[in-house]
Amino acid sequence: MIEIEPRKLLKGETGDWEVVIGLEVHAQVSSRSKLFSGASAEYGAGPNENVSLVDAAMPGMLPVINKFCVEQAIKTGLGLNAKINLWSRFDRKNYFYPDLPQGYQISQYLDPIVGEGEIEVELGPEETITVGIERLHLEQDAGKSIHDLSPNDSYVDLNRSGVALMEIVSKPEMRSGEEASAYFGKLRTIVRYLGTCDGNMDQGSMRADVNVSVRRPGAELGTRTETKNVNSLKFVRQVIDYEARRQIEVLESGGSINQETRLFNVKTGETRTMRSKEDAHDYRYFPDPDLLPLEFAQTWVDEIKRSLPELPDAKKRRFVDAYGLSLYDASVLAADTASADFFEAVASGNDGKMACNWVMGDLFGALNKENKDITESPVTAEQLGALIGLIKDKTISGKIAKNVFEIIWTEGGNPADIVEQRGLKQVTDTGAIETVIDKIIADNPAQVAQVKDKPKTMGWFVGQVMKEMAGKANPQAVNQILKKKLGIE
Ligand code: ADP
Ligand code: MG
Repeated sequence: MIEIEPRKLLKGETGDWEVVIGLEVHAQVSSRSKLFSGASAEYGAGPNENVSLVDAAMPGMLPVINKFCVEQAIKTGLGLNAKINLWSRFDRKNYFYPDLPQGYQISQYLDPIVGEGEIEVELGPEETITVGIERLHLEQDAGKSIHDLSPNDSYVDLNRSGVALMEIVSKPEMRSGEEASAYFGKLRTIVRYLGTCDGNMDQGSMRADVNVSVRRPGAELGTRTETKNVNSLKFVRQVIDYEARRQIEVLESGGSINQETRLFNVKTGETRTMRSKEDAHDYRYFPDPDLLPLEFAQTWVDEIKRSLPELPDAKKRRFVDAYGLSLYDASVLAADTASADFFEAVASGNDGKMACNWVMGDLFGALNKENKDITESPVTAEQLGALIGLIKDKTISGKIAKNVFEIIWTEGGNPADIVEQRGLKQVTDTGAIETVIDKIIADNPAQVAQVKDKPKTMGWFVGQVMKEMAGKANPQAVNQILKKKLGIE
């Protein structure tokens, strides 16, 4: 039995339940050609344009392993902190389907190229979990049956037939929809950093089979259902929420769960039975006699390891150490290289914490509002860095900086020039501030009388000064002078 700390229990009618989740993620290898043939693996070609005789399973055709795809699998394994198996082999998984002309899928069964590993998954500001990886294996994708082109016929498009997939199998260590979707997102971050898969879920480059079961806390694992081809973080969460509730209801009303494969309906958010699940022995797995075992030297793995870019967790730690960010802020910025690079460009020569606040607050906020990606940001990292520099050297206040940000966002321009041209420089001249304060004190005797008993009402005076000075007064100076003049400690 796998012993796991119970987390996040669900309340049923008859007591608490624990949800157990394991994900099998299919990630399409970013490669020009297929796993066992030279045909193009590109997305979006016309029907059956990218099909070699091997992909169409013509008699006598033989598969030839694509070394590049093997290298991508090793890279990904290293990114998952996993054991790379120097000896692995391909097996035939036998089944019939019209989009599978071979009558079997070439996959890896008992000896996958990558073994156990683990990754860190951030759930929120306070919480990080570790999720175990069971294995990663290489396999070929199947073609696609098309049923909606003709009222009478079905068609088959074999473009995808033979495209290389990495199947990344997690241990059943997740306990909620949030955990599972955060894990799926972290996998996407990792493969994107590595460049081994483009991670485009909506194009099907990355999709998850979601295994869900429920059990009483501490009990043996329950029977699981597997919901196929879930292709967004939100859908993963929905599948789990729906399945967990459904299974608890079935069990509490005295029924039992069938081990089965289910389909998710994105319109209703529900899952439904597709077929009862096969067991591994139903597939009559056996080593593919057309292919030699995969065998390579540790020195090759070491060489690949040296070529890896900085990975998200390493970047996250570096952001914490070098810029003093919280672990969570660092993980959000490190989640994709575009955000990470943008942040680093803003932070260079600036205060790291301040750069982080501006990127994650004002910039991400503005991008979200207009549904823009960071690569489409109208404000460049150089502009934002310059703007922060102006706050830091007290040329403008933080508040004025928000206005300048708006201006560069909509009109563009150099922050220093904008400040100069529009007369937005902060007034630090205490004499000018004093004159304004004296006038406000003289004009508002009632407020002055009140502030003696209620020092908090000093905020009202600050507001008046700022209004009078169009927000340009240095806030520290305003506070200091007000306190002195009003006799507040
Ligand atoms: P199969 O190909 O038959 O689905 P795999 O071993 O490839 O089997 O994958 C099984 C997946 O299901 C793994 O991700 C594993 O963590 C998960 N899993 C296994 N048992 C359970 C269970 N009782 N509840 C939830 N998930 C489970
Ligand atoms: Mg599987």
